[in-house]
Amino acid sequence: MKHIIILGDGMADWPIKALNNKTLLQAANTPYMDKLAQMGRSGRLMTVAEGFHPGSEVANMSVLGYNLPKVYEGRGPLEAASIGVELQPGEMALRCNTICLEGENIKNHSAGHITTEEADVLVKHLQEQLGDDRVHFYTGVQYRHLLVIKGGDKRIDCTPPHDVPLKPFRPLMVKPMPEAVNIMDPEGQADLTPQETADLLNDLIMRSQEILKNHPINQQRIAEGKDPANSIWPWSPGYRPQMERLSDKFPQLKRGAVISAVDLINGIGYYAGLRRLTVEGATGLYDTNYENKVAAALEALKTDDFVYLHIEASDEAGHEGNIPLKLITIENLDSRAVGPIYEAVKDWDEPVAIAVLPDHPTPCELRTHTSEPIPFLIWYPGIEPDEVQTFDEVAACNGSYGLLKGDEFMNEFMQR
Ligand SMILES: [Zn+2]
Repeated sequence: MKHIIILGDGMADWPIKALNNKTLLQAANTPYMDKLAQMGRSGRLMTVAEGFHPGSEVANMSVLGYNLPKVYEGRGPLEAASIGVELQPGEMALRCNTICLEGENIKNHSAGHITTEEADVLVKHLQEQLGDDRVHFYTGVQYRHLLVIKGGDKRIDCTPPHDVPLKPFRPLMVKPMPEAVNIMDPEGQADLTPQETADLLNDLIMRSQEILKNHPINQQRIAEGKDPANSIWPWSPGYRPQMERLSDKFPQLKRGAVISAVDLINGIGYYAGLRRLTVEGATGLYDTNYENKVAAALEALKTDDFVYLHIEASDEAGHEGNIPLKLITIENLDSRAVGPIYEAVKDWDEPVAIAVLPDHPTPCELRTHTSEPIPFLIWYPGIEPDEVQTFDEVAACNGSYGLLKGDEFMNEFMQR
């Protein structure tokens, strides 16, 4: 049997007063997801392990069955993989934003949403000026870049810049973790202490400000009334994750693919051993090209055993707190992804198992992610259905899979 996971990022939600206390999945018109829930079996899954923040990288790794405390290494290494940087043992990767400072304050985490083309010039310039045997800057996407420190110690405290808009930057600079300040890395990955690593990163931050201040790209942006990218901001450090490939854990999964517009998800796919399919018109927003994504998924299912189809749109609508828009994204997922995939594969000679689920809730009311268990459904030809008649947070509580955690969802899904 082949397998496809269709993941609607942030699709789960809370009951909403304006919708008669229904959740968005309950209120949305989703005939295909409901049909698969009727014909298949449902359950709930805990996707945010205790002690972890409900980030998409955390939740998607959990969906794929990875043990977070064992393998989580931060965003840096995932983004390294997504831009093709192969981390070596002892190399620490950090997400490196280009941010906008106004005086002493962080104005924004994105340098006014600088373009990749502009940022590429700046990052290459930083690499020329600051790069050496130990320090390497790589261009990523828009304001999201990569800094690799050979021998850096990840036991440091870094602040995600999107959490601290308008705050003074100096008190938020990198600090060694108090318990590890001058203690060498027991795992031997680092040859700098946490204190030395923090000092190096803070020195890079301060020197980047001197280098970027009068750069022609920034002068041009200021002249156009845009925010300059006048500092770097490294955070979320880690080493190469010790993630086993899905094909090692599930021998029947010989070849798999990931389809996503999001760097972090593609990075997870890389370490999971999935080939990455790039799809024209995949934006990560409501205007994403569902039809191209579905076509790519169906094409991949012909040659591969496993496809991870990730669609970001609902999460973005949740972050905006936009209830009508989130309803549309859920209905789009149903009519433009789940429906066409089910109709295409239901009669294939080699049967295809379909799972539909979000990674975490992004409640419109809260406008950010939460850690509650998410609903899932699994259908394949011949599955014995349970009593659940619709796909949503409430109905899934009565699903016959119950409440799963860890790798239990993947084990159930891959069993057949
Ligand atoms: Zn997410």
